[in-house]
Amino acid sequence: MLTYKEIREFIERNDSIVIFRHIHGDYDAYGAQLGLKELIKNNYPEKEVYSAGDRDIINPDFLDDMDNPDVETISRSLCIIVDTSTRDRVENKNYLLSGNSIRIDHHPYAEEICKHEMVDPSASSASQLIVELAMDSGWSMSARAAEFLYAGISSDTLKMTIDKVDERLFLDLAFLMKSHFSVNKVNRAIYDQNTELFNKETQLRTRIRFEGDIAYLVLSDKDLKIMNLTYREAKDMVNIMGNIAGIEKYAMFVEYENGYGVSLRSHTHPISWIAEKYGGGGHLNASGISAVKEEDIKYIVKLLKEA
Ligand code: AMP
Repeated sequence: MLTYKEIREFIERNDSIVIFRHIHGDYDAYGAQLGLKELIKNNYPEKEVYSAGDRDIINPDFLDDMDNPDVETISRSLCIIVDTSTRDRVENKNYLLSGNSIRIDHHPYAEEICKHEMVDPSASSASQLIVELAMDSGWSMSARAAEFLYAGISSDTLKMTIDKVDERLFLDLAFLMKSHFSVNKVNRAIYDQNTELFNKETQLRTRIRFEGDIAYLVLSDKDLKIMNLTYREAKDMVNIMGNIAGIEKYAMFVEYENGYGVSLRSHTHPISWIAEKYGGGGHLNASGISAVKEEDIKYIVKLLKEA
């Protein structure tokens, strides 16, 4: 596994760097990507640093614009892939043109994406690994870099409420806090909903189905249209089932192109094996599946009950 020193050496050896992340980016994917970009720009001002991918998330204004450099630039650059567990989940496959790529990730190991990788599933988030890279390297941390990295850590730890919140994370956060960014500002920028979305979420709560210690939501394309919700907005609301007494596992099924996209969550029991059965993956307690058939939903709910 790559060490922080070796990652730093890769960065120092290359004049041009492009940072990639997983499709349907969340704040950890964007946070690690843009936090790392900001850190390299601040600490190695002579280097060219680019981000690749779309900017499709609730509250995109918090993010910077994506650079999406041309293929010629990518092929002569060091490509760094953050927060991505498999090759097919890298949003922009042009990293393959480079032949000079490394990965920094915290998902349970699924497959090799690059020859040189740091994969540490004990970390709360990819953003935490970037904070540690900065600490190990003695880099200066700007308030903007800290905002991105804090957003990633906060969102992947469900606002510091999961078991991966430990002494190591608090030491890393203490380092981040030295840059004097505002936690409150980041919190508002990434979690605030406009009143329209807030009201839609209230409506969604009335549709949650409960079975034993399971809660789940199924939203067809027709439902989305009636509620005027996008796929992305709906999927991001999975956590509304996260604090219901007696509910240990919960799931969201949302119709998308050729099937239903699935988000599975669990407070304690591992559920990633269910996602893997249907071609998906992710973390032990937070996993996803790209597409299942409508008739698979009842089997997935049954497996969740058994998990
Ligand atoms: P989501 O439910 O989409 O928020 O995803 C939860 C976690 O599972 C994230 O860490 C994702 O990167 C991962 N994940 C989601 N969908 C897939 C998939 N189709 N294959 C592998 N991992 C996935």
